[in-house]
Amino acid sequence: MAQLLEGKKIADKIIAEIKAQFIALNRQPVLACILVGDNAGAEAYVKSQAKIAESLGVTYQLHKFAALVSEVELGEFIKQLNSEKSVNGIILQMPLPKHLDYEKLVSQIEPKKDVEGLHPENMGKLICGSSSGRVVPCTANAVMELLNSTQVDLRGLEAVIVGRSKIVGKPLALLLLEKSVTVTVCHSATSKAGKLQEHVNRAQILIVATGKAELIKGSWIKEGAIVLDVGINRVEGKLIGDVEFKPAEERASFITPVPGGVGPLTVAMLMRNLLACVKAQL
Ligand code: NAD
Repeated sequence: MAQLLEGKKIADKIIAEIKAQFIALNRQPVLACILVGDNAGAEAYVKSQAKIAESLGVTYQLHKFAALVSEVELGEFIKQLNSEKSVNGIILQMPLPKHLDYEKLVSQIEPKKDVEGLHPENMGKLICGSSSGRVVPCTANAVMELLNSTQVDLRGLEAVIVGRSKIVGKPLALLLLEKSVTVTVCHSATSKAGKLQEHVNRAQILIVATGKAELIKGSWIKEGAIVLDVGINRVEGKLIGDVEFKPAEERASFITPVPGGVGPLTVAMLMRNLLACVKAQL
């Protein structure tokens, strides 16, 4: 039976450390979040950001825009936040309505205020492996924290990541390579080619971020694997992950619950990034 990897406990410890550092810096940072349109998932995430920010003494500004806002107007607003000295971090909350180009807009955020690590300059630092002043995407970093908490020597292990998004799969592949892990990244076309089970079956570290409820069957999990389930799916009023939990728990050595695994750590990583941004701006 697997040991549970509960993000909340690790997150509480990290939040306490960050709080002490903000106090030592004698700063009351400001985090600005841009939220466009109505999206229940995004609004729930924004609420949890605001709650943790408050507990850290961070001023959280929520800037809401109607779904019809133009790209030019949002771009102008980002420039305004860039120039405001009091603002230390900027979040452009995903998802954006279809007429807005996320990549174009995120690249207008000042890289030193890019708390989500999604500006091309910060993504580039990740590819180059430069450690100084880099800001790493929060969910990928949360998964690495959970992996570190297992204290397993990761060198040479086989990792399989299912999902290749910019916020999870792609940055995780790079972070795992830095730890000398052998990495395979699977995606929808892997499934269409009928190869997903084969890859999952040899994973010593399995990370799943697809948003497809219980896509990964418990019987596919290699005995003793470390399973990190990033997915959050609402099914019949309950939150479940992308991995069939009960049978996977029987086979894995470590497994994240959903909810309560990766989620609570993601916001803690956001605050750690804010601390890095504040330091870079000093
Ligand atoms: P996304 O939609 O950007 O990407 C999904 C990825 O899954 C794509 O690369 C796609 O190719 C792959 N995929 C989809 N169907 C597949 C299939 N049948 N077989 C193999 N691969 C398949 O998603 P995202 O933004 O990375 O989010 C993924 C999930 O993680 C969602 O459930 C989201 O809610 C959750 N999430 C959780 C946190 C957290 O903090 N816990 C943070 C971010 C995202």
